[in-house]
Parts: sequence; structure tokens; C-alpha cells
Amino acid sequence: MKVVEIFASIQGEGKHIGKPTVFVRLSGCNLECSWCDTKYAREGGKEMTVGEVVGEVKKHRINNVCITGGEPMLQLAELRQLVEKLGRLKYHTVLETNGTLYDKFVFDKVDCVSFDVKPPSSGEESDIRLLKKLMQKDQVKIVVSDEKDFKFAKRMLKKIPVEVILQPAGGADIKWIAEKVIEEKLNARVLPQLHKIIKVK
Ligand code: SF4
Repeated sequence: MKVVEIFASIQGEGKHIGKPTVFVRLSGCNLECSWCDTKYAREGGKEMTVGEVVGEVKKHRINNVCITGGEPMLQLAELRQLVEKLGRLKYHTVLETNGTLYDKFVFDKVDCVSFDVKPPSSGEESDIRLLKKLMQKDQVKIVVSDEKDFKFAKRMLKKIPVEVILQPAGGADIKWIAEKVIEEKLNARVLPQLHKIIKVK
């Protein structure tokens, strides 16, 4: 599989925020979000076997693994093997995905699917029909950068059966989002990107 990087850091997003985590960043993406902060992962990467990836993960001696990208679901055959192996080794796994692709085996196998619903400011769209595939263990992340995104997120909340995290886009004011959520009494969690605040990878 094509791997951009494997590194240890703190989980900076979502309901597992703050946990020490090994990140496995896979190469390739089928979207071009306007504010993408991992453009370097959209191509290239080093060819590794699933066994080599698991070997690298093991070296870090951390029990949480986040498979991210790019879009990891593009390498489906190897991804299935990877989540199966990590599951067998009792790792806690989070899969970050851009909400355009689905696979029952992978979605069932990981401990948390972190499913992005792309807002208008991204210039892209997720497949919101896939939301019904999510389970209580999963989460939806919506990046909010302006009023239009916020209104979009508010509409989406009615269709989402799992925990929703609203996250400011780079530069957006998280206080403004939090105040709007309180004012409109929305059932969503407002979270920053912790790794950016504490300036770790
Ligand atoms: S889906 Fe993720 S990796 Fe792909 S372009 Fe959007 S933000 Fe970047």
C-alpha cells in the first residue's frame, strides 16, 4: 500500500481528542478541498506491505491507531487487511474518511469511523446517503468556516444519527461557532484541532 508517513502524536480531533495515537497516513485522494491541509498526501508515498505498516505501528508501543490520508478508502483491498490485522492485535482504530466511499467490512471492523461531511466552503461534497451506514461508535466531523457552512451543518444535524463534531477551518473563530451552537441549542460538540494549538504534528 502507498504510505505517506507513520508517526506518533496526540489525537487532535474528534471524540478521541487528546489520546496518544499512531497515525498511518495513506496516499491519494479523490477530492480537492479548498482548505486541504494535507495536500502532500494527495499523491506519492512509499510502497509498503501491510505487514511492514503493522511493524512500524508496533515500534511506537501506543495502542491507538488513526488511519488517515488523503483518502484511505481508495486503497480498499490493503485497508481491509490492515484493519483486520490491527483488530486482531487489539489496537483501538479510528478511520478518517472524506464521506464519499463505503465498505461494510472496514466500517464494521474499526472502532470509530470519523466521517467527514464536506461543507460548502470545501468546494466538495460528501455522499450523505452513507450517513445511515454509521453506528454509535462512529462520529461525523463538519468543518465550519463561515455562516454558510454553519447553516449547512445545522441542516445536516437532522440527518446524522451519531455524534457530530463541528470544527473550525483554519482561521475560523471557534468562539463564534460555540456561541451559535449555544444560541441555536444544537446537539453538536464544538472542538478545536488540538495538535495545531499545541503545535505538534
Ligand atoms: S478529503 Fe481530506 S485529503 Fe482529500 S482534499 Fe479534502 S481535506 Fe484534503
